[in-house]
Amino acid sequence: MYRLFRFFRPYTLNLSWVIVFLFAQSIAELYLPTLMADVVNNGMMKGDTGYIWKYGSYMLLVALGSSFCSIVGSYLSSIVGMGFGKDVRDKVFSRVESYSLQEFDKIGTASLITRTTNDITQVQTLVVMGLRFMVYAPIMCVGGIIMAFSKDKRLTLILAVVLPVMLILIGSLAGVIVPLFKAMQVKLDKVNLVLRENLTGIRVIRAFNRLRSENERFRKANRDLTDNSIKVNKIMASIQPAMIIIMNLTSISIIWFGGHRISQNVMQVGDMMAFLQYAMQVMFSIIMVTIMFVMVPRAQASATRINEVLDVEPVICDPPRGRESGGRVGHVEFRDVTFSYPGAELPAVRNISFAAHPGEVTAIIGGTGSGKSTLINLIPRFYDVESGCVLVDGVDVRQMAQKELRAKIGFVPQTPILFSGTVAENIRYGKDDATDEEISHAAEIAQASEFIAAMKNGYESLISQGGTNLSGGQKQRLSIARALVRRPGIYILDDSFSALDFKTDARLRAALKKETTASTLIIVAQRVGTVMDADRIIVLDEGRIVGIGKHKELMGTCVVYREIVSSQLSEEEIA
Ligand code: ADP
Ligand code: MG
Repeated sequence: MYRLFRFFRPYTLNLSWVIVFLFAQSIAELYLPTLMADVVNNGMMKGDTGYIWKYGSYMLLVALGSSFCSIVGSYLSSIVGMGFGKDVRDKVFSRVESYSLQEFDKIGTASLITRTTNDITQVQTLVVMGLRFMVYAPIMCVGGIIMAFSKDKRLTLILAVVLPVMLILIGSLAGVIVPLFKAMQVKLDKVNLVLRENLTGIRVIRAFNRLRSENERFRKANRDLTDNSIKVNKIMASIQPAMIIIMNLTSISIIWFGGHRISQNVMQVGDMMAFLQYAMQVMFSIIMVTIMFVMVPRAQASATRINEVLDVEPVICDPPRGRESGGRVGHVEFRDVTFSYPGAELPAVRNISFAAHPGEVTAIIGGTGSGKSTLINLIPRFYDVESGCVLVDGVDVRQMAQKELRAKIGFVPQTPILFSGTVAENIRYGKDDATDEEISHAAEIAQASEFIAAMKNGYESLISQGGTNLSGGQKQRLSIARALVRRPGIYILDDSFSALDFKTDARLRAALKKETTASTLIIVAQRVGTVMDADRIIVLDEGRIVGIGKHKELMGTCVVYREIVSSQLSEEEIA
């Protein structure tokens, strides 16, 4: 929690003003009952109207001043609190942006969202409340006791009995509430997780008729959160009447004992009324502080979760001094690369060595789960290798600035991801300053121009969130166009033809080959037809290279390749 306090630094000036105004407010409020006692004792009891008018209007002024300070104080503390929240959110967001995929896998997307929104809100709420209470309540409590004592020493004994009772009661209730509050964030995480999975997986859920069980799963998480909140609120609700009873009993006893003292002529009426008010102020401030202390653990749990996000040092970061590649373009080399996912028993790929050069097409083929995607994810350094090294343009990817490395690569991921916006915007994502010609050229090669032209507004047609208004093949072609528009030295296409029909697949590859004569093309594919005429085919099996060469060579030497081929092509085609 305290580590988040560094975010207050830009608001130091505002903070000092908050303290000044709240201080002024509490002093004014402490002064009011004394003034009232004067008016009652010296004005009303003696029938001096002039005195009442004079001190009465004085009281009014002090009251107005106190309200003014209270308003300005709240205003300033809101500015500080909201600014604090905004800064923390910014910081968390930019930290998450720098995460590598490993860190995303670790914390989880749903939890990252809760942490950036709800957790920060919790801390922010506490900050806004805390700023007010932390200054105001202690002054009111201590000041109130001192002032009450100055009005009548004997009556102060009542407070000496009531306050400990109150503290014990509140303390024991807080002991029950705090663990419940702490559990709240985790339960909220769960609700978010289920909700997110449901929203993104709605098609699958419908197709498999899992609506009912998914509903049940959500209901359970939701119920869990609700039960917890209800428990907390029940206890909180019981505090209030208990406090009112205690306060009323205190009032009665002050009036009872005060009345006796007045009839013995050792106390004045005005002083008793002032004493009553001081007692109330003291008790209110204690309640305020308790509310704060109940809220602190929840915010504390949130603060820990925020700090967890901020503390993660991305395992993949830029070297202090990036090495230049010295003008070489389009060279990719794997030297005895082995890599395993964190926590996995076996390496996902092992002992991979090969080199790809400009103008060549390297195809990677292999069964699902054989490590094809893993292998090519190592080139843009989405993950770091375990041993061996990956060289791009002659430089180890770990010695290059990530930005520079990724600028060399046109990457088409296995699942095409589009962003909400127009078709043109999505293609321009690959290159900010692409002209309209460049965009339509890229679309042309990616065989996308036909269906784009058929859309209602052409390149200005809107793509909905996640590209749901396009077919799988259309999405694939747009994400290929997005990579093409960059004109990088290295193209990586991860199974990007899987949703295309054979004709489009063939046309696309022919156009691609013409376009990329000076670049290196690395294509992952399932279909033999797609890879057959590549300059180099790498056959992967369980993370290992079991064959490398041209189609003809592999047919003679590689059993796995022959099996893949014979499962897909008929006898005549093979011959
Ligand atoms: P392919 O693309 O050839 O179908 P992948 O490279 O995606 O295969 O997967 C290779 C292996 O690595 C699989 O056994 C898979 O379970 C595992 N794997 C893939 N992604 C992850 C990940 N993010 N975390 C842990 N294991 C993974
Ligand atoms: Mg894959």
